[in-house]
Amino acid sequence: MNVAIKPQTLGQTLAGKLSLITGSTSGIGLGIARALAAAGSDVVLNGFGKPEEVAQVQAKIATDFNVGVTYSSADVSKPLAIREMIEKTLQSFGRLDILVNNAGIQHVAPLQVFPPEKWDAILAINLSSAFHTTRLALPAMLKSKWGRIINVASAHALVASPFKSAYVAAKHALLGLTKVTALETAEYGITCNAICPGYVYTPLIEAQIEGQAKAHGIAREQVIRDVLLAQQPNKRFATVEELGALAVFLASPAAASITGAALPVDGGWTAH
Ligand code: NAD
Repeated sequence: MNVAIKPQTLGQTLAGKLSLITGSTSGIGLGIARALAAAGSDVVLNGFGKPEEVAQVQAKIATDFNVGVTYSSADVSKPLAIREMIEKTLQSFGRLDILVNNAGIQHVAPLQVFPPEKWDAILAINLSSAFHTTRLALPAMLKSKWGRIINVASAHALVASPFKSAYVAAKHALLGLTKVTALETAEYGITCNAICPGYVYTPLIEAQIEGQAKAHGIAREQVIRDVLLAQQPNKRFATVEELGALAVFLASPAAASITGAALPVDGGWTAH
């Protein structure tokens, strides 16, 4: 039987779903939130930002894509705040179908002077938050026998770079958590995968460009070419739209058999 697929239905593959994306007031998280909304999902945004700017981002997604958009200011380094965010989401929407663990921070310093409080903060935000959101989101997913958990890891979940001890440790561990989550949920219509970007142009990267330019006393163009993209064979930053498209694919029925995977979006970096 040859059933024609209507283009407009392809665009709304996630209609009726509810997505929660941590760290979605900026950068990759915002790109993923917009892509999920474009595919028809209602979204819960989370992250820091000036209230008026967050309200603007929230209103723009609602009007651009005609979906429900709420916002939680939960600090995901705090398990109690995560619990309140998930409970409120379940109370308001009665469901949680797609969880994107994206919030993350970075600090770059040699091990012997790496500030312990930065280590703790990176582990809490980039790793432990995903444990807390996942454990609290799973009961609703198990009940509906459907769920998608997408962990935004990094090429640094697969390979290391000097001076990023906490970040590399957290991202490697996040990939471990991804695999365990995938194994425990595989029979219940739930998938869990890690997206592993190389360099994506976002505010987090802009801060690194400035920091490295100062540290090495070189121009920002040289930092981009010789430092940041030195390992990235295609010599271009990935875009937040590319990552959003991958998240939508992972959330779609077509990706039902992809689970426990690490998906590099790194221009060939980890092919070295
Ligand atoms: P970004 O700085 O643009 O955005 C980070 C988001 O996380 C913001 O919305 C911020 O408010 C939020 N956030 C930070 N701390 C938080 C906290 N304690 N509680 C709640 N929200 C918090 O960064 P980005 O580049 O978009 O990075 C997003 C994710 O992608 C991170 O996990 C990062 O490690 C990963 N990543 C980024 C790149 C890149 O090149 N930009 C590459 C690989 C992986």
